[in-house]
Amino acid sequence: MTLVPVFDGHNDALGRLWCAEGDPVARFARDEGHINVPQMAAGGFRGGFFALYSPEKRAPFDFSAFSVADLEIPLPPMLEEGAALTAAIGQAGIAHKLAAAGHLNICTTADAVRSGLTEGPPVCLLHLEGADCIGPDLLALDTLYALGLRSLGIVWSRPTIFGHGVPFRHNHDGDTGPGLTADGKRLVARCLELGMVIDTSHLTMKGFWDVAEAGAPLVATHSNACAISNNARNLTDMQLRAIGASGGMVGLNFATVFLSDAGWKSGQAGIDDCLRQLDHMVEVTGETCVGLGSDFDGAPLPEGISGAGDLPDLIAAMKRYGFDAPLIDRLCHGNWLSFLDRNLAAPT
Ligand code: ZN
Repeated sequence: MTLVPVFDGHNDALGRLWCAEGDPVARFARDEGHINVPQMAAGGFRGGFFALYSPEKRAPFDFSAFSVADLEIPLPPMLEEGAALTAAIGQAGIAHKLAAAGHLNICTTADAVRSGLTEGPPVCLLHLEGADCIGPDLLALDTLYALGLRSLGIVWSRPTIFGHGVPFRHNHDGDTGPGLTADGKRLVARCLELGMVIDTSHLTMKGFWDVAEAGAPLVATHSNACAISNNARNLTDMQLRAIGASGGMVGLNFATVFLSDAGWKSGQAGIDDCLRQLDHMVEVTGETCVGLGSDFDGAPLPEGISGAGDLPDLIAAMKRYGFDAPLIDRLCHGNWLSFLDRNLAAPT
């Protein structure tokens, strides 16, 4: 069987490896977590955005924190810049070790991503999930860019000096707080100068519109639709339409808690919920601006998907649902690649 190649908008494999400590290359080579060498090969996972994420403490991720029923998880406080930098640099180091071992191919241009989709190790596009490690002088951004960083999320679900994240709150859209700060607007301008992707997942709705005002294509690498699951981490139809109008991208987040209302309450969801979300996002955003943004290694997964190796089951379900082959190709990799062709620019 020929696997449909997948290029995915978000995973936390580097954070998982950094938190687990030990030899990251050996861990990545064995079947542990959602993304690893055998799972990628089994699932046709040919690359994606690999996040550098700074947790509050260096300990294995605990997805049970999402079992909150109707409660919300409030925003944690701002992270200390130095601690966040240690995490980001450490995880970038892991990515480079994995590349040296032949397990990943760190790509910094759209052409390299496109050719890497079909040959060599899976593509790693380095992404910073929350600019906690960058100070107002923005110098750390240039350092991370030199290490291969090509995508930046202004915030995770906590404040930074640049903007405000949304809490994990259900029955509420992303209008939970202020927009970008003056430093945040400078950060966005610098990312645009560098030809980087600017990610609005986790950002407040006001922040989202500030990014739009800066003229950036609107991207939410791993967010779903509020119309199906009204959660602050998801996007209203107005936001989804704006993503489509800007030639941006939204990536389907597989996290059970963001897929459906029932998923938020129970932590359980199924592949059907993924399809309902995709169907709505394609309808509202447009066929060319939707992709996958699994959140592998960063979130609890729906029944039937235990890791990247099960992607063919999701794709088979898309076929049964009635998505035709060209649309499936676009959702699984084509739209992300076209977006990168248009937006991953050489620095000006
Ligand atoms: Zn995230």
